[in-house]
Amino acid sequence: MSLSFSSNPRQDRASVADRAAILANPGFGDHFSDHMVLAKWSQDEGWHDAEVTAFGPIQMSPAAAVLHYAQEIFEGMKAYRHADGSVWTFRPEANAARFARSAKRLALPVLPEEDFVDSLKALVQTDIDWVPEAADGAETSLYLRPFMFASEAFLGVRPSKEVTYCVIASPAGSYFPGGVKPVSLWISNDYARAGEGGTGAAKCGGNYASSLAGQLEGIAAGCDQAVFLDSSTHTYIEELGGMNLFFVYKDGRIVTPELTGTILEGVTRSSILELAKDLGLEPQERRIPIQEWKDGAESGEITEIFACGTAAVITPVGELKWDGGSCDHRVEGHRDEIAMKIRKTLLDIQYGRTEDTHGWMTRL
Ligand code: PMP
Repeated sequence: MSLSFSSNPRQDRASVADRAAILANPGFGDHFSDHMVLAKWSQDEGWHDAEVTAFGPIQMSPAAAVLHYAQEIFEGMKAYRHADGSVWTFRPEANAARFARSAKRLALPVLPEEDFVDSLKALVQTDIDWVPEAADGAETSLYLRPFMFASEAFLGVRPSKEVTYCVIASPAGSYFPGGVKPVSLWISNDYARAGEGGTGAAKCGGNYASSLAGQLEGIAAGCDQAVFLDSSTHTYIEELGGMNLFFVYKDGRIVTPELTGTILEGVTRSSILELAKDLGLEPQERRIPIQEWKDGAESGEITEIFACGTAAVITPVGELKWDGGSCDHRVEGHRDEIAMKIRKTLLDIQYGRTEDTHGWMTRL
């Protein structure tokens, strides 16, 4: 039986004027819409008590298992407003499937795909005024954050018998208000993000906590972000703390690290693999040694490198630095032509400016 997200009476926290001021300059992750979705799961009752309620603090015991053992997973997606005012999201069934895979890895209950998508619809329909207009090609959206955590008050180490599911929403401005800018990356020698048999392929909070020390090291070295290598051999490129990577070669190949169980399967990544074929490129998934990046930058074989994810869509990559060296594939007159073409293609689909031939959009 599927959940029904009953709506409590609307309780707007922000005045119309405050909301308008926030939507005029939303930034990222700082502001939240008026409502949230909550649902409970228990071993005895399964999923129950689904509701849309006022956004606000969640009461929990200091003994709640999530606070001690990090049994938690989340997703990230966006609601886009189209020119006719309708609101859509991109491939929610892919996020639902990844949420289910993450749940299994973290020994959490699976939320059926239909309930996952219904929960997004219930929240967005209540807070529809929080979805910014995307006038003049602005990349504004309402970022949706579904998450699930172990809420049982119990200090033994075992899967929680009580779980809370929640969805919150946060208006998001253009990721690159001043135009798309390349990021510089740092190879961390000391830190890995994920290990074989670990949780790298799941979207769980612990992965992000463990990426922070590497990110800080990168920032201290003057870079924007860290790129993580495989933890067993420190040879192969994996991904960034929150984005997958693509490499474009002179001969038209477009290559991304294959899914080895330690990399998150990005929805943007898999969409780019499909779009690349439409654009006449030759997509490949394989292991890529970090040395191939350094050599390809030097020889000119690699012409473009970009990172991808829901938040920024596609971000061109510039310099790569490591302890004792650096390289840069960009030469004079460099243009991230393919990255920008794919970026525009994806954005045009998401904002309804082109026909959705892949059937990727769902109306909320
Ligand atoms: N890798 C990691 C570690 C991430 O957190 C994200 C963001 N979810 C991605 C890749 C990109 O995934 P998606 O395209 O689904 O946003």
